[in-house]
Amino acid sequence: MFPPRRPDPFLPQLDGYEVMRVPGVRAIKPYACPGCHQHIEPGVGHVVAWPEDLVDDRRHWHVHCWRIAARRGRTT
Ligand SMILES: [Zn+2]
Repeated sequence: MFPPRRPDPFLPQLDGYEVMRVPGVRAIKPYACPGCHQHIEPGVGHVVAWPEDLVDDRRHWHVHCWRIAARRGRTT
């Protein structure tokens, strides 16, 4: 479902989390961003992040919301 893991140097990293970019062309349905509780519309590039080894807990984030969470050091 996801391409092989490859750290993205342009994405803020958060300890204990895996994070990947989702290009707009692959964003085919709306998601609720846990950072701002707004929707991410289809076609909008964003990021998906999940706790290591808990890929079923992955959540979709706006890039700027993920950056804020990563800077804060937590997702909640
Ligand atoms: Zn957001």
